[in-house]
Amino acid sequence: MSSLPVYDVVVIGGGAAGVGVAVALQHAGIENFVVLERYLVGASFVLWPAETRFITPSFPTNSIGMLDLDSIALGTSPSFMLGVEHPTGKEYALYLNAVAEVYKLPIRTQTHVLRVSKLGEDFRVDTAEETLRAKHVIWAAGEYQYPQMHGIVGAEFCQHTATITSYNGLEGDDFIVIGGYESGIDAAYHLAQRGKKVRVFDRRSPWKDKSSDPSVALSTYSLQRMRDERFAAQVELFADTEIVSVSQTSTGYEATTLSGRRFHSSAPPLFAGGFKGSHKHVADLFEQREDGFPVLSEHDESTTVPGLFLCGPAVRHDNHVFCFIYKYRQRFAVVAKAIATSLGLPAEGLEEYRKWGMYLDDLSCCGGECIC
Ligand SMILES: Cc1cc2nc3c(=O)[nH]c(=O)nc-3n(C[C@H](O)[C@H](O)[C@H](O)COP(=O)(O)OP(=O)(O)OC[C@H]3O[C@@H](n4cnc5c(N)ncnc54)[C@H](O)[C@@H]3O)c2cc1C
Repeated sequence: MSSLPVYDVVVIGGGAAGVGVAVALQHAGIENFVVLERYLVGASFVLWPAETRFITPSFPTNSIGMLDLDSIALGTSPSFMLGVEHPTGKEYALYLNAVAEVYKLPIRTQTHVLRVSKLGEDFRVDTAEETLRAKHVIWAAGEYQYPQMHGIVGAEFCQHTATITSYNGLEGDDFIVIGGYESGIDAAYHLAQRGKKVRVFDRRSPWKDKSSDPSVALSTYSLQRMRDERFAAQVELFADTEIVSVSQTSTGYEATTLSGRRFHSSAPPLFAGGFKGSHKHVADLFEQREDGFPVLSEHDESTTVPGLFLCGPAVRHDNHVFCFIYKYRQRFAVVAKAIATSLGLPAEGLEEYRKWGMYLDDLSCCGGECIC
């Protein structure tokens, strides 16, 4: 172990967060780093249902000093590259691969990280094939490949929306969708387009929430889709209705609500109940907030294991939820700067990020809600 070369940084995950923060590491002047990706760059996006598209619009705003909303690297724009405003997952993966290529990022694909531990001053990163050493680790392994399947009795009879390859391939005429946030409404929309009857249940009512934060309320894109004729005709919404169990019957499936109402469907219910997230795999290396997300320093570093950073949609600070790309990319330069400083590098190349309205030192969210 002591004879192994020591990387300055090992990044785990080659998704939007891993690729984006790797570019920021380069801009910070860090050269001795590697990104470990268990499948291929953008794997989670490749796994999205074929019809699912980005909610956040992509637009080539860069020329005026505003980064494209879905961009993860300065000066790049998915819409410019792909020629679409709401890319599919597979299209967005092409953009991530292009960024990785342009920046010649040192990414090792097909490299599955099994464990991260701290031994003395350094980290030990165990992959399926070998052990690496690093001074710093950035955990960017995402959420999509770690779906949440508990919370209701009989969850095994449901299909998680993250395992759907295409809505064309789903058999049945009537569907129950459990969860009415973005993935649930996306599923209902595509099923309605195919003439299916859909009932969507949510323990709250995301489509009625008045928050201007799309991490809390449904995005404009989804609200707009809900006004589509076929959606209105085919989809029934049940707000404030929690499904507590699902069972199999001789004719299909039955979902039971907290108040005891029963609903039947011929197809297995679709579970759009979110993700437990990969951060649970490194939970022992972070303090936990009450909501189960890691406690982070102002530089997104673990408060118990110095040198370990978190990047991506699981980042939380107070009541700020960084679950969209345009939110968590704001943290890339903060992390890169903290690591460069710890390595004694001036990180001058990161000053450019400030010009694009990205944070370098702290959390500069406005924190407010829109007033109209
Ligand atoms: C249906 C849907 C629609 C969405 N729409 C939008 C949108 O419109 N706009 C937006 O901003 N966000 C959207 N999001 C959220 C966005 O997809 C996520 O924020 C994004 O994927 C997170 O990027 P990431 O790099 O953290 O995770 P991922 O993209 O999941 O990348 C993590 C990578 O880590 C790899 N990995 C995992 N575990 C290991 C391991 N142990 N060892 C090595 N590698 C590992 C994975 O293979 C993967 O490539 C959407 C999400 C979903 C599910």
